[in-house]
Amino acid sequence: MRELLSQRARGVKRSEIRELLKLTEQPGIISFAGGLPDPETFPTQEFAQAAQQVIQQDYHKSLQYGATEGDKRFRQAVIDWLTQEGLPLRLDEIIATSAAQQGLDLICKVFLDPGDLVYCDLPTYLGAIQAFTAYQAEKIGIPMEEDGMNLEVLKSKLEEARRADKRPKLVYIVPNFQNPSGITLSEAKRKELVEIAQQYNLLIMEDDPYGWLRYEDRPIPSLKSLDKYGRVILLVSFSKLLCPGLRLGILAASPDVLSEIVKLKQPTDLCTPSFTQSLAYHYLRAHDFHERIEHLKRIYKEKRDAMLEALEEYMPRHPEIHWTRPQGGFFVWMTLPEYIDSTELLRRALSAQVAFVTGSAFFVDGSGKNTLRLSFAEQKPEVIREGMCRLGQTIEEAIATRVT
Ligand code: PMP
Repeated sequence: MRELLSQRARGVKRSEIRELLKLTEQPGIISFAGGLPDPETFPTQEFAQAAQQVIQQDYHKSLQYGATEGDKRFRQAVIDWLTQEGLPLRLDEIIATSAAQQGLDLICKVFLDPGDLVYCDLPTYLGAIQAFTAYQAEKIGIPMEEDGMNLEVLKSKLEEARRADKRPKLVYIVPNFQNPSGITLSEAKRKELVEIAQQYNLLIMEDDPYGWLRYEDRPIPSLKSLDKYGRVILLVSFSKLLCPGLRLGILAASPDVLSEIVKLKQPTDLCTPSFTQSLAYHYLRAHDFHERIEHLKRIYKEKRDAMLEALEEYMPRHPEIHWTRPQGGFFVWMTLPEYIDSTELLRRALSAQVAFVTGSAFFVDGSGKNTLRLSFAEQKPEVIREGMCRLGQTIEEAIATRVT
């Protein structure tokens, strides 16, 4: 069978981490590994009511095939919400997607040929790396600073590509509380990045599943709202704001980009499930979504605060140990002394009944062996404290024995 595989399938490797992640799900282990939202926040009662309407009154739409662009009622409800949030869009500027991951895949499908260059943060979201690999793009990692991607390095890499006659196409950005680092791209850099895209004829993929979950300070304008050239494609997901099981999001772009995306969405799935779009529409019509997001922010802020306090308390004092302090989202990113390999550390941590995700998987250049990601979203504050205590001890032992 192997000889029948496409070049594309051959290029994608199985993830070793997946195997380790299976171990993190064993009973008794406090896991900070998965980036999943807290299921206790899912709006079950509200969905139960909405589902009645969806099935009994709305079945001619909700159980039928729908337009590839998505259900107009759902899209209009999303536009109404985004307008309230300061991001006015028109109906012909958004389509429904089967959550952000499909949007990401479709953008790659429409714009990338094998060998095209894609620029992303070091580290960046694993699902994006997988999509770039599947479409056989060349992935160029750009180091991050406290305020996001180092744009000087980006520009020098773009110049390098120009000299080598290569094809830079796309910059991929998770602008708010990035997965995995928790870092937010500053407003000044957002503005500059849009100008760079214009100067070098690039598209920007703005993947923003966490932006609404901000626990302090003011929101920063999205790249999409700063873009006067039509170069930004924005992905919004309902996975963290409602629940991932809906598999629902929207993709916002200029109408000409959207028409290309719609063409290649048809062979993917014909349309995003009418059922979940209908459910979300009835939900959004009947409830104050802004209020729901405020509720989510209160819950996740408490968890974030619990993790940051416990890190202060339990992590060994060491000049090479540091972590990010995200203003929102789900993730804290930790850097350890160079000589600690976080894959080896994870084996030790699992014996101590605590788990995280090793950092190197998020680096397209194979670096980051001494880094790890902690998600605070799933666990209760008191469990987070206990988990951090176990992790602190594990790291202390690793330092004492200089695990390499
Ligand atoms: N982008 C980022 C940055 C993510 O963290 C995730 C999921 N954790 C996704 C996209 C995919 O999410 P979904 O397809 O559920 O919207």
